[in-house]
Amino acid sequence: MAVNTAINYRLPQVEQLLQHPSLQTYILALSRPVVTEILRSQFALIRQSERFQVQGVEGVDVLAVVIKSCEVQQGKRQVRVINATGIAVHTNLGRSPIATELWDSARDVNTGYSNLELELATGKRGGRNGLLPSLVNAWLGAEDCVIVNNNAASLYLILHALAAGKEVIVSRGEQIQIGGGFRIPDILALSGCKLVEVGTTNITTSDDYINALTDNTAMVLMVHQSNFSIQGFTESPDIQDVAKRLPEHVQLVVDQGSGLSSEQYANSETSLSRYLHMGADLVCFSGDKILGGPQAGIIAGRQDLTQVLLKNPMMRAFRAGRIVLALLEELLVKKLNQEPSGEGVAQHTLLRCRHTRTLADRLTVKWSPYAEVVSMEMQVGGGSIPSETYACFGLALSLPGKAQQHLDALRVMPTPIIAYLHADRLMLNLATLLDDDLPRFEAQIEHYLQRFLSIG
Ligand SMILES: *Cc1c(COP(=O)(O)O)cnc(C)c1O
Repeated sequence: MAVNTAINYRLPQVEQLLQHPSLQTYILALSRPVVTEILRSQFALIRQSERFQVQGVEGVDVLAVVIKSCEVQQGKRQVRVINATGIAVHTNLGRSPIATELWDSARDVNTGYSNLELELATGKRGGRNGLLPSLVNAWLGAEDCVIVNNNAASLYLILHALAAGKEVIVSRGEQIQIGGGFRIPDILALSGCKLVEVGTTNITTSDDYINALTDNTAMVLMVHQSNFSIQGFTESPDIQDVAKRLPEHVQLVVDQGSGLSSEQYANSETSLSRYLHMGADLVCFSGDKILGGPQAGIIAGRQDLTQVLLKNPMMRAFRAGRIVLALLEELLVKKLNQEPSGEGVAQHTLLRCRHTRTLADRLTVKWSPYAEVVSMEMQVGGGSIPSETYACFGLALSLPGKAQQHLDALRVMPTPIIAYLHADRLMLNLATLLDDDLPRFEAQIEHYLQRFLSIG
């Protein structure tokens, strides 16, 4: 077959195409080397394509192909999204947003050097925890605290440092999987402890724990049943009773998980300070669930035990960075002073539930005939309070076409809106909309609805 010499097989030069005005925003967002690599790899694909081989550059919209690939890469970057799911602590959406005020107050200490490990009064090397032990003490009545990167690390460190080579008693009802691939029996095995299972899935009593004690028992571990709740015929041990009956050398540790410190909104839950009050030697929980701070694991309780944890070599691998420590410090000061920025996202979302009716009414009028007020439920999420939901309002949008298609369209808006489907309708829960997000939310939905107005 004769080659048609009239066909132009010359793709633009990479350097030249990089100057194209449409690519400048991608260079800013992705970096020049990454965009360059996209051009190279897309050119290679274009050269192999049949269209190109038959028609040459005339057959391919090179710029469009490159832009599409840049878009895909840009979608991988972290961006702010609007949470209209009704789940306040949403694992896929970064769990807890950090209050703007907190972020701003931790800015100065983080953008310069800090006294992270320097005692200013003496000039000696100091601990990294700063005021945190005093703050946690004022908050929960715990003697001391240890801050690590996340609560999974808390659990590992506690088990490894206090119970390696020994037996740890865990109820069968609490041998749960928390999130992807994090199972209590596995973490026990990895930390070098021997799991002793007691009770059944629905019933475990104090006697079950006490009867399982041996000379080699180091710990009784109680784990919050994060993602589910067992209802009906159940019995949990009287923690106070277990604590009282445990011998000196056996520690009672509670992985409370969520960081709930008040039972006000969750009657079925036990707060951190109550666990400590009932005799838990240590409690551990996440910083970015109900507390509403940065990702962290917080271990609070007896000082002789926290000192053992701090001296363990694994501490070096798990210790939190100064950004996290500074944010936690700010958060707890504000929390103890009952300032709004010291309340976590869960608390704010609960309060917002009350105002969702007014907001839903206003938006329905504005977005008539597409929007309808729907009563909904808000959940704290993150496995925090699995048995409770809180009444709130939201909107159902009924638009021409498939609901799934609108759900997808909202998710790729400049500030993505994360909604959900229910009975084939597009649902927007208004309880989880942050105040700062409301103007953007309204403007974007309005813009989206306008195209249907012109059709309709
Ligand atoms: C969330 C949770 C964990 C894991 O905490 P991370 O901070 O995600 O590591 C462990 N235990 C319980 C009970 C939890 O709820």
